[in-house]
Amino acid sequence: MARKQSSNFGRGGAYKCDCCKRATRATGRGDNEHVGLCAECYDLYGEENHLADSGELYSSPAEVIRLFEAIVAAGGKPGNKFNSVLSKAHATL
Ligand SMILES: [Zn+2]
Repeated sequence: MARKQSSNFGRGGAYKCDCCKRATRATGRGDNEHVGLCAECYDLYGEENHLADSGELYSSPAEVIRLFEAIVAAGGKPGNKFNSVLSKAHATL
């Protein structure tokens, strides 16, 4: 089955993040692109897991908020799934 190639999207390591739906690019870090997430969503998933396990953020509240702002600034929509992480960041800032 032939795949339609109507744009350059998908070349050069660019892809759409599964979570925030923005176009992103492989970072070469290796982890996030394998699961179809941008680097910021990947980190937020990590934060969510850590928060669920330990009740604490993995990195600083300021870093968590920076991740959200980076997604929104790039036209992404983090959605509701990271609400607990964001609330925790604001509560502990
Ligand atoms: Zn994303």
